[in-house]
Amino acid sequence: MKITAQQGKYSVSDIFVCARCGYCCQGETTVSLDQDDQRRMVEELGLDRQTVREKYWRVTGAVVQMKIVDGHCIFYNEQMGCTVHSGRPWRCGEWPLHPSILADPNNFATIRESCPGINRELSYEEFRAILQYLIDEAGRMKC
Ligand code: SF4
Ligand code: SF4
Repeated sequence: MKITAQQGKYSVSDIFVCARCGYCCQGETTVSLDQDDQRRMVEELGLDRQTVREKYWRVTGAVVQMKIVDGHCIFYNEQMGCTVHSGRPWRCGEWPLHPSILADPNNFATIRESCPGINRELSYEEFRAILQYLIDEAGRMKC
């Protein structure tokens, strides 16, 4: 794909389509939830905050993360994927279109390595140009 200023509009699907492999929901830690994430998650789950905290969060001082069960985020289900999709933390929604990609091709290579949803047909420069456009348009990415 050749990227030109005249081409105008792009959408997320030009550079990324989630393959729903679940890789980004695996591991022994999760992203942290800011205050807005916490509020949205409580709303989405339809439970009171204390119940959500006890059942789903790992709280370390001021840091709130999601609990890990069997090596993955407590909300990950192999058949369904993310079971709190609408209430997931914004960092989950942003992934893998992290702004650090704009600064360094090595960040792009690392993220591309772990995420099969990234469009393999694009060079770094092409990918970067579209991501920059999308971030300029939207402010904060949400995939
Ligand atoms: S690693 Fe990429 S393709 Fe796989 S679920 Fe996460 S965002 Fe989707
Ligand atoms: S909240 Fe959803 S998207 Fe985020 S790590 Fe957990 S299962 Fe994955």
